[in-house]
Amino acid sequence: MSHFVGELSAVIATALFIFALNWMNDPKTARRGVIAGVTGMTVAVLATWVQPEIIHHGWIVAAIAAGFVVGVPLSRVPLTAVPQRTALSHAFGGLAAGLVGTAEFFLWTGETGGGGGGAHLTHFRLSALFIEVILGFLTFTGSLMAAGKLQEVRWIPQRPVTYPGQNFVNVGVLAIAVALGVLLVVNPTAPWARQAFIAIAVLALIFGILLIIPIGGADMPTVISILNAYAGLAAVAMGFVLDSKLLVTAGALDGSSGLILSIIMCRAMNRSFTNVLFGAFGKAQPALPAGEQKVWKQETVEGASQLLEQARNVVIIPGYGMAVAQAQHKVRELYDALTKRGVTVKFAIHPVAGRMPGHMNVLLAEANIPYSALVEMEEINPEMPQTDVALVLGANDVVNPAARYAKSTPIYGMPIIDADKAKTVLAVKRSKNPGFAGIDNELYVQDNTWMLFGDAKAVLSDLVKQFGSGGIH
Ligand code: NDP
Repeated sequence: MSHFVGELSAVIATALFIFALNWMNDPKTARRGVIAGVTGMTVAVLATWVQPEIIHHGWIVAAIAAGFVVGVPLSRVPLTAVPQRTALSHAFGGLAAGLVGTAEFFLWTGETGGGGGGAHLTHFRLSALFIEVILGFLTFTGSLMAAGKLQEVRWIPQRPVTYPGQNFVNVGVLAIAVALGVLLVVNPTAPWARQAFIAIAVLALIFGILLIIPIGGADMPTVISILNAYAGLAAVAMGFVLDSKLLVTAGALDGSSGLILSIIMCRAMNRSFTNVLFGAFGKAQPALPAGEQKVWKQETVEGASQLLEQARNVVIIPGYGMAVAQAQHKVRELYDALTKRGVTVKFAIHPVAGRMPGHMNVLLAEANIPYSALVEMEEINPEMPQTDVALVLGANDVVNPAARYAKSTPIYGMPIIDADKAKTVLAVKRSKNPGFAGIDNELYVQDNTWMLFGDAKAVLSDLVKQFGSGGIH
């Protein structure tokens, strides 16, 4: 009976996970997707709990309580910190996989002295166990490093750390761990087995750190989704180790969605996987050619609102600064004011604008901006030369023309939104500081660009007031 309940719950939970992913594809159904995911996970936990093999209910209660203690504060982080929060979730997933694998190995090899555990020591199960442990532990430290870099923790260098022979060292560390794993699969009860297992775990932990230190700048989003894929794969391997079909399917869904996201991000940044992982990009370098010093031209709110009023079409290009300023509701007010006056307003959405995939979509949806006004980069770019005003709102790297030609910069090759091709550019930011990749942006000193210095929310507020006061005719 309990076997039937277990199988049925696995099917229900898996179906809910698949529906959750499908519904999360569209902002209109995303909320339903989250509810389906949570329900699926609850079904999975309860179905596991009622299994007769569970002998210690206290540990499960303690684990659920610990999950709440960590999970509730994590759910309250601001949207701008979601990438590092996501990295922390991957770290926990990786640690869980690594610890479960470790426990299973010591249980099995401990039992074999007397006999019982030997049944577990098949080549297949042991191979799955080592894949689980290596992927789990490297995901743990790798994700912690990534979270630390994104959170700008003082003692973790944000910029890529490179040294000669780095890839050789990295591959070497992983190769030793894999070689030890192969030796243990063949000979799991050798007298040196436990020491070798500990060495594998330590090497995987070190490899996670080594993997992330040479990565920085614009490659961080891709790395986060690659770590998501690793955490999913570790869960798949754990499913084979524990003989849990539910873990295998849930892990496969997690791993493949991470992989698909990584591929989308790599395409968006015009990079390959190997390039992201081994290219050591993201070094801060000046992008502007030395020589002629261009001037930053400043515009007043009055002047800017006149430009907007006279425009027939306006493209708003939001970036990380809109998220920092929480300016999305003011953006909505500006959108309303402009559309009421017959101006066509579109939003140009770059795939890596902000600090997480879909960051701009989430914020603009929160402010109830019609989804139809949001246009993907490939679609908006051909329209940019006919655009009267491009309003760059706290975006920097995603509109930096250096990406087209400056080979030495971390954003070289990344497709950008062609704001520079618009007839007039209005750019809102607080200072002359660079964006995430740490490089100058010539867009701001272009002949047809006017700066509106200030916090995005405050500047938009003034612009909207200017419209409301009827100061523009
Ligand atoms: P950037 O980080 O390049 O630039 C943001 C700009 O916003 C800065 O120039 C900053 O200038 C300005 N800004 C900050 N706060 C405010 C404020 N309160 N009001 C007005 N302006 C403000 O952002 P982009 O969106 O253009 O590019 C995203 C970058 O982040 C890319 O390099 C991407 O690779 C990377 N990244 C993306 C992730 C993702 O998944 N989307 C995840 C991790 C990294 P100033 O300080 O002068 O105001």
